[in-house]
Amino acid sequence: MDEVLLGLGSNVGRPIDNLREAVFRLHEICLISRVSSIYRTEPVGNINQDWFLNCAVLMETSLDAHELLDRILRIETAMGRVRTIRSGPRIIDIDILLAGDRQISDDALTVPHARMHQRAFALYPSAEIAAEMRHPLLDATVKDLLERLVSEEKAEKTSGPDWPPRLVL
Ligand code: ADP
Ligand code: MG
Repeated sequence: MDEVLLGLGSNVGRPIDNLREAVFRLHEICLISRVSSIYRTEPVGNINQDWFLNCAVLMETSLDAHELLDRILRIETAMGRVRTIRSGPRIIDIDILLAGDRQISDDALTVPHARMHQRAFALYPSAEIAAEMRHPLLDATVKDLLERLVSEEKAEKTSGPDWPPRLVL
């Protein structure tokens, strides 16, 4: 059984409800062990769009990583996600950040997620629920990755009074 860390985000419609619905749907396909708080984050990139709500989910599954991706994409589609512009607004985005110590790199799937270590919006919620989980390629825990990101100031949005705002639900 693999321990899998997921990153969820939404900035269309009612993002809190979308995150809740996604967690509920994930609950139907795997065993959820922890869900982080929800963080409000400024979008990365040049697209003019609303701020996101993000959270992370730690789960256990006996599904193989590609099967899990397939279920995740089905959840995104069932929730009405339409893929238009890359990095653009989305009802729901569910990314596989880590899957145990697995390393996968093919056309459909890259695990660990290729940009998780550069994304404060993925690392803040992840560090809350999986601080000691290891990134198998970077010789670091999730907590280390967040500390590195913040100290190197590579994070695009980790300063100012709104960061890291945390909604306790
Ligand atoms: P992004 O999350 O990078 O903004 P999308 O959610 O539109 O982009 O995902 C596009 C594709 O990325 C998916 O169809 C999936 O095949 C691929 N992908 C590759 N690695 C991962 C991963 N670790 N988690 C989720 N999707 C991934
Ligand atoms: Mg995605």
